[in-house]
Amino acid sequence: MTDYNEIRKADPEIFEIMEMEEKRQESFLELIASENIVSKAVMQAAGSHLTNKYAEGYPGKRNYGGCEYVDMVEELAKKRAMSLFGAEYANVQPHSGSQANLAVFQAFMKPGDTLLGMDISHGGHITHGSPENLSGKMYNVITYGVRRDTETIDYDKVEDLIRIHRPRIVIAGASAYPRNIDFKVMSEMAHRYDALLMADMAHIAGLVAAEEHMNPVEYADVVTSATNKTLRGPRGGFILCREEYGKLIDRAVFPGTQGGPLMNVIAAKAVCFREAMTQKFRKYQKQTVKNAKTLAERIMANGIRVVSGGTDNHLILADVYRSGMTGKQAEILLDKAHITLNKCSIPFETLSPFETSGIRIGTPSVTSRGFTEKECEKIADLISLVINDGEIAVPVVRGEVDRLTKEFPIYR
Ligand SMILES: *Cc1c(COP(=O)(O)O)cnc(C)c1O
Repeated sequence: MTDYNEIRKADPEIFEIMEMEEKRQESFLELIASENIVSKAVMQAAGSHLTNKYAEGYPGKRNYGGCEYVDMVEELAKKRAMSLFGAEYANVQPHSGSQANLAVFQAFMKPGDTLLGMDISHGGHITHGSPENLSGKMYNVITYGVRRDTETIDYDKVEDLIRIHRPRIVIAGASAYPRNIDFKVMSEMAHRYDALLMADMAHIAGLVAAEEHMNPVEYADVVTSATNKTLRGPRGGFILCREEYGKLIDRAVFPGTQGGPLMNVIAAKAVCFREAMTQKFRKYQKQTVKNAKTLAERIMANGIRVVSGGTDNHLILADVYRSGMTGKQAEILLDKAHITLNKCSIPFETLSPFETSGIRIGTPSVTSRGFTEKECEKIADLISLVINDGEIAVPVVRGEVDRLTKEFPIYR
């Protein structure tokens, strides 16, 4: 177990819960596509004394004294983000990916302006204009989706919508889309009608850093991201843009949408960006994609329909309704078998968002644990057993999960 002696002494209640959660993480198969397992270095930075420092503002122009060292931390984080993704400008202060998106909207749009984003049931994110999110309440939201036949983005339709509605911002990026996104085509279409392209690479930032996915920085006017998904950093966000938009973005983050930055988390982001520059990280991302492809092939071979017929990235959408259970039922049964993933709407969904026809399966966490193709074939078989045989398969599968997770401890 990780050494949390001080917590144990100061707050046994929280310590005990943290221990249970650590055990859960060790003994379950974590297949939530947006999760990952950070290095001890990232965790130490995030849990450090830098949390004590108030640093409203930006390096060199803070509203508080004593910022000379945290200035160095933030400058380094920015420099590394720019170098890792080949960007002219970076803002590393957004507390999360959602905050990054909100800041970009604030920078470039007035309330009532038009925003074109991907429909949630086709893979988009709540911050891309969901009626329940501020983005959906503040802006006039138009959505695009995937084609019925290929279940890949309907680029022709995107261009039609841009031409008809003339959005200020077009968003390219998703939370549950298993295929490559053509940022080049998206930017050409947006620019043809004087719209800005915002690429939201929250899910695929790690793949982009390792050149396993087209880099949106070359084509988009502004790129937002989370650091905690495939990028394997702390929970947080960042924004990349061209130099000319730097000041505008900075003002939109602070004081536009946030107060003081989390300097401990910014240090952890810097550590994560450095880790992402290594060969080891590239190998990890390659393996993540290989694992997802292997898993997709195998569950299809086991008779389960996979949306779009496979994957190009770190995640798979499986249509379990075709196999006779809802996404919610699958999520609950798999959880009983110690396999964690989430229900997910699929394109042209016929069930409610609380039931869903699909499940989303991601390989970032299990790949961080050291799983390769061999273990992913095994995972695919275990998932298929639960989907195809139901409750009766749960005890056997749980036993297999126990064996697998013991073989690949997280914090050895
Ligand atoms: C995860 C995600 C975000 C950020 O979400 P947070 O929970 O705020 O970190 C933004 N956009 C997309 C497409 C995402 O998948």
